[in-house]
Amino acid sequence: MTKLDCNVTSCLHNSDNCCCKSAIIVEGSQAKDTADTCCGSFDENKDGSFHNLFKTPESRLEVDCEAVNCIYNEGRHCSAEHIGIAGDGAREAGHTECATFRTR
Ligand code: SF4
Ligand code: SF4
Repeated sequence: MTKLDCNVTSCLHNSDNCCCKSAIIVEGSQAKDTADTCCGSFDENKDGSFHNLFKTPESRLEVDCEAVNCIYNEGRHCSAEHIGIAGDGAREAGHTECATFRTR
């Protein structure tokens, strides 16, 4: 399980800079740097008013990851102790990134 901070407050699953999902997938199979990655589990919070009323932030979650060029990727699973998903104001998944990506 990876500790995850996420500043993508425009995502439906975000609450208090944490993610409310129990698992996410990070995309970027060809990624060479952070900008080539994104959170594939992003969903836009379209009306901006729904704040996960019935959800609880998860500080640790399972992170599947397609960015196989990252040093933390072990068999398409993230082995990092702590990652940060970034993309404040994102309107789509491509506007987000895994800020912890490091090239092998
Ligand atoms: S962008 Fe990804 S990590 Fe962040 S809250 Fe949304 S689903 Fe969770
Ligand atoms: S740190 Fe690396 S392996 Fe973990 S989610 Fe980010 S890009 Fe994927």
